[in-house]
Amino acid sequence: MKAVKIDHIGIAVKSIDASLKFYVELLGLKLEGEETVAEQKVKTAFLPVGDVEVELLESTAPDGPIAKFIETKGEGIQHIAFAVDNIEEALKELEEKNFRLIDHKPRLGAGGKKIAFLHPKDTGGVLIEFCEKI
Ligand code: ZN
Repeated sequence: MKAVKIDHIGIAVKSIDASLKFYVELLGLKLEGEETVAEQKVKTAFLPVGDVEVELLESTAPDGPIAKFIETKGEGIQHIAFAVDNIEEALKELEEKNFRLIDHKPRLGAGGKKIAFLHPKDTGGVLIEFCEKI
């Protein structure tokens, strides 16, 4: 497998609206789009910066994964996403090498990409997402 680039950095926030003040007004980024992924109980906002995007993540329910993350760790970087050229192959290879996968098969994420997460216990405590543009 080959990671092509860092696609985006996922940041858990209590409020996207409040966070935009920093990212848009101070850093000068442009809000490219907002999307709710109901299955993950999360609202996302994408702000490109160069070739990479900042993905703000706000929970839509108190029992969602982002709400739980903020409850235990506070707001902050939640995951790093690498673009790969073939996500199915990447997952297969990692599984063969005994990495624990959160998603054994890619699912549809924000922005219409195929995404899958690896377990942070096997990646030095970093939650890593793979994504592939369809
Ligand atoms: Zn992501």
